[in-house]
Amino acid sequence: MVISNLKFIVDHNVGKLAKWLRVMGYDTLFFTGDGDWQMVTTALAEGRVILTRDTQIMRRGVVTSGRLKAILIQSDEPKQQMQQVVETLNLDTQFRLFSICLECNQPLEGRDKQHVKDRVPLYVFQTQSQYMECPTCHRIYWRGTHWQAMLNKLERFKGS
Ligand SMILES: [Zn+2]
Repeated sequence: MVISNLKFIVDHNVGKLAKWLRVMGYDTLFFTGDGDWQMVTTALAEGRVILTRDTQIMRRGVVTSGRLKAILIQSDEPKQQMQQVVETLNLDTQFRLFSICLECNQPLEGRDKQHVKDRVPLYVFQTQSQYMECPTCHRIYWRGTHWQAMLNKLERFKGS
């Protein structure tokens, strides 16, 4: 069974995970503050799973008691890190593909073609019909070739 309401907080030492979890559509904060305590507090308050390479966090009482879920990432390599997360939590890599901003973690909003006319390159406008906009940073997303490249990468995160 796939758990659909998982949310994450990604430690700065495994930052690449944030982008890929957002690509899949999982609400993911990227923690850049200092002090583990701040990350732990946010995770507890918002019900987020911590992803980290920091063994200290794993020894905290809130984690060992099971009140807070944290995953100790084993590898240095982003692909293997993603494989570990996907396998451990049985994540759906196609969960809500490309539904949140990769920069801001905000849900994207649909935009019609005319609305983005002057904001995307002409060749994109001529070939794409569906667009999404981030309400925070106003970046426009569309299903171009980079989407396909990301989809292919997502496939490789699944266990063999
Ligand atoms: Zn944004």
